[in-house]
Order: sequence, then structure tokens, then C-alpha cells
Amino acid sequence: MNGIYIHVPFCVKICDYCDFSALAAPVRMYGEYVDLLLQEAKLRFEKCKKFISSLNTAYFGGGTPSLLPEKELLRLVDGLTSLGVHFEQLKEVSLECNPDSVSLSVLENAASLGVNRFSLGIQTFDDRLLKNIGRRQTAALGRESLFRLNEFAQKRCFRVSADLIFQLPGQTLESFLSDVRELAKTGIGHVSFYGLTVSPNSVLATHLKRGLFTLPEDLYADMYDGGVEILKEFGLERYEVSNFARKGEESLHNLNYWKRGEYLGLGPGAHSFQGNVRTAAPYRYSDWRNWVKRGCPDEDLLKDILGRKERIEEFIWLSLRTSNGLDLTELLKKESFLIPENKICSWVDRNFLAREGSRIFLVGQGWTMMDAVVEDFLP
Ligand code: SF4
Repeated sequence: MNGIYIHVPFCVKICDYCDFSALAAPVRMYGEYVDLLLQEAKLRFEKCKKFISSLNTAYFGGGTPSLLPEKELLRLVDGLTSLGVHFEQLKEVSLECNPDSVSLSVLENAASLGVNRFSLGIQTFDDRLLKNIGRRQTAALGRESLFRLNEFAQKRCFRVSADLIFQLPGQTLESFLSDVRELAKTGIGHVSFYGLTVSPNSVLATHLKRGLFTLPEDLYADMYDGGVEILKEFGLERYEVSNFARKGEESLHNLNYWKRGEYLGLGPGAHSFQGNVRTAAPYRYSDWRNWVKRGCPDEDLLKDILGRKERIEEFIWLSLRTSNGLDLTELLKKESFLIPENKICSWVDRNFLAREGSRIFLVGQGWTMMDAVVEDFLP
């Protein structure tokens, strides 16, 4: 599988926990951004024509891609199409949106351009917690946009996903589980939930240091396990540590990441993986703009050429994230690496891991012990 990721870095306001390449820029910058992104695409596609001609998925992520005015999204899609990305032929085209930019016209426009999957950043339905993390939306706006999106998607047979975050400052177990239940009750086909990670440079990190809030760190396992159980009740099965779907509604684009498929990322901070080399474009908008203007020189990409040890680490780590788990025969065939049998048995005996044929996969409490299991298996 081959995927393309298109980063749109704009947000109306930067959330207090944000660690993405995002900026609250005036609308007049959006046009310049589309020009630069198309310039980057043109230069980079030249070097991987075969890859572009065999794309399967596209993902507009951010930032907030749904903020792009219709005219600019149209220009972006048209420009990429003329460079060889035939959106209407792709298996999956996803667009991330935030509750403050999910109007019917945004949805209609995106759908007419080939988008067939929408991913909505809800994070929580609790107004107090939204405020604690500096989100701009209200819980009511989250509910309203989710309703609108679900209704639109049902009529047009599109797919919808929504994100929640847990371990928010001031969050209780009951509050998170009520978020999960409320979301699942809408009949949604895909949910992602993540424990909050606080980047040391974020506004939230400063608030925490000053003692304004505390994080419910001791509730991690209860929140995670409780959320999994509720989603299961509603037919949403875990297919990756943070992702849950009804059968057939899994995100193909993200599955490609975990299966170590190739992808190309466009935009500031966007990552790519091609031919065992991971690269990242300049993270800051101004650095990225200068880089594009200088012709996107390869030598200025952050590069990580994976040696055997890193490939093995990635294989183990990415495979165990998924419910399919890790195929020991494949690991042996691809990397000539065997995980010592006594290590596997020790996790299986404690019911953190299960084995079926040559496959091992996390079970029960093992999902919240993933880091320790992976660490133990690394060469
Ligand atoms: S919406 Fe997402 S990308 Fe934008 S500021 Fe908030 S966390 Fe960052």
C-alpha cells in the first residue's frame, strides 16, 4: 500500500497541549500555503513517479484541513490531481475536521472533491475539561457537529471517525467513560482515543508546573480498559492500541503506517517513509517555506536511515500495536531475528500475550503493558 499525507497547519486557535506543526494564521496566508504545497508536491513527485502512480490512500491532516476555504481546497485537489494524484480512484481519502469548521457546505465541497472519510476532533464532551486544555469549541458545538457529520455520512455512505483524549487535567474516570459512551451511542463506525501527552514546551506544561492542574495519571489503565469495554459493547473492536472500528471501517491509511507501508508527507513537519528511510520536512512554517522556495533540497530533510537494529525495533513495536500482532516467521524471514522463546513464554504465562501459530499478540492487561513487552523483546 502507498499513502500520501497532506498537512494543513492552520487552526483558529492553538490548543494549550498542542505539539503539532500548527499555527493560528490569518486567512490571507491560506492561498500562499496552497501555492507552496503544490510547489513542494511538484518537486518531490518528480523523484517518485512510480510511487505516486500507485497510491491507495490520501489523508488531509493538520492543523485543521476543514478550515481551508472551498476555493483553496479545490485548488489544492486540482493541483495535486494534475500532478498525478487521482483522488477519485483512491480507496480512501480522509479529511480531519474540528467542530468549529464542520458546515454542510464544507462537507459537500470536500465530498465533491473525492473525500470519503471524515475524522472529527471531539476530545471530550465536558466543557470544563475543554477549557482546561484550551480547546476553542464547546461541548454543545462538538455534539452538533458530530450529529451533522453522522447525518451527512449516512446519506452519502461515507465513513466517520472521532477522536477522544483521556487523562485530561481534572478528568475523572466517570467523565471519560461517559464521553466514550456518548460517542459510541451515536452509532459512529470508528473511534480513536489517546492518553494525553504533554509536550514540555506547551502552555499546558507551564500550567502543570505552576500547579494549576494535575493529571489523573494513576487512572491510565482504568480509563483505557473501561473505554475499550464500552466500545466493544457497541460493536467497535480494537484493531490498534488506540483505534477501534466496526468491521470494514478501519482506517486503511493508518493501517499502512503500522504495516510499515510507504507514504509521502507534504507540508511543514510532515513525515515520509520510502525505501527504509524515514524523513521529516522542516517543522516550523517559516523554515518549511524557505525550504520549498530553495527547491526542497533533500539534504535539508531530517533523515533517519534505518539499520537492521532499527528495522527490527520498528517491526516489533508497530506490529504489537495492532490486534493482528507480530508474525514471528515474517520477522525471521525479513530481518533474521528470533525473539528468545523464554521471553515470549514469560509474557504468555502471565496472560499479557497470546500466541496463535507463528503470531503473538497482546491480550487483556497486556495492552497497557505494551511498552514493557516491546522493550523486553528488543535486540
Ligand atoms: S486543533 Fe489540533 S492541531 Fe490545532 S491547535 Fe488544537 S491540537 Fe493543535
